[in-house]
Amino acid sequence: MQTRDLSSHSPYVPGRGIEEVARDLGMDPDELIKLSSNENPHGSSPKAAAAVIDATETTGLHVYPKASHTDLTAAIADQWDVAAEQVWLTPGADGAIDLLSRAFLEPGDGILEPDPGFSYYSMSARYHHGTARTYDLSKAAEFAQTAELVLEAYEGERMVYLTTPHNPTGSEFSREAIETIADGVDEHTLVVIDEAYGEYSQRPSSIELVDDHENLAVLRTFSKAYGLAGLRIGYAVVPSEWADAYARVNTPFAANDLACRAALAALDDQTHVERSIETARWARGYMRENLDAKTWDSAGNFVLADVGDAETVAARSQARGVIIRDCTSFGLPECVRISCGTEAETKTAVETLNTILAEVSVQP
Ligand SMILES: *Cc1c(COP(=O)(O)O)cnc(C)c1O
Repeated sequence: MQTRDLSSHSPYVPGRGIEEVARDLGMDPDELIKLSSNENPHGSSPKAAAAVIDATETTGLHVYPKASHTDLTAAIADQWDVAAEQVWLTPGADGAIDLLSRAFLEPGDGILEPDPGFSYYSMSARYHHGTARTYDLSKAAEFAQTAELVLEAYEGERMVYLTTPHNPTGSEFSREAIETIADGVDEHTLVVIDEAYGEYSQRPSSIELVDDHENLAVLRTFSKAYGLAGLRIGYAVVPSEWADAYARVNTPFAANDLACRAALAALDDQTHVERSIETARWARGYMRENLDAKTWDSAGNFVLADVGDAETVAARSQARGVIIRDCTSFGLPECVRISCGTEAETKTAVETLNTILAEVSVQP
């Protein structure tokens, strides 16, 4: 008995978990600063946690989700001024990527994605018997994301992914570039705008463009600014023309009840999300000003830094209790990505990294 040929599939490589690293180092998880997965250093909204506890005590965990899914969909539709059927709730934005692959890709269809970039776009395409090509962001050009870059690489793929703000570089597409791409691709091409870090950006969401373009879908998540990564809840906003495809491709009850309730409560806690955004904007500025390494302008809750030998620097940093992301798996073996922590965490991380960078530069 064999699976189908999975040799072109590679596992998703996440940042390492805090318990895992603590166990390896023989340290208490509380002594570690985890800045490797772009999580919210303030945790989730207390209102979200309360909603989860309340749900377990009242409705219980034994019933299939229904009302909470409807309520969250309505709240998101209201937030963005779109119709409820345009909101596809999914287990994380990753779930939305899967549903779009399912809804769009015939076997052999291609997607176009950024390199470096988020690995799940092509993973999902391959799961759905599709193929992947890349448009290459250039370090020499400051990882600039432009319409020309995408359209020059474009060869009629069925889906084109734009990540803005981009992970791991932090760079963005302008509104004009997004519209140029949406207008410049063939009619059969869906342009997917991944706004997993949209809250941290100063730019308006591309959700505003969905009603004027039949080929645009926008991804959002509660994992980052809303601090609910552990619950797996995100969504796509899609054009009304094909909104009904959701019911045809969705896994039954994929967005779970606790996640929907927590997200609903989190949406209702603007104070928490605003504080989270403010901390991230402060931290990325602090890192850019104070890290003794080349960094890039970031619109996300992380900063990319050129440290020469990422593997060595990330390992030494971890040994001193600061976990950061070695970007070798993104094809950037000289770079690390440091998530924005609290003020204290960020300052400690910068101090630790600067010490390591000084050591590394004296001993080749
Ligand atoms: C974190 C992230 C996502 C989605 O994460 P979920 O937890 O699945 O919502 C999507 N795209 C990018 C670029 C990300 O960094």
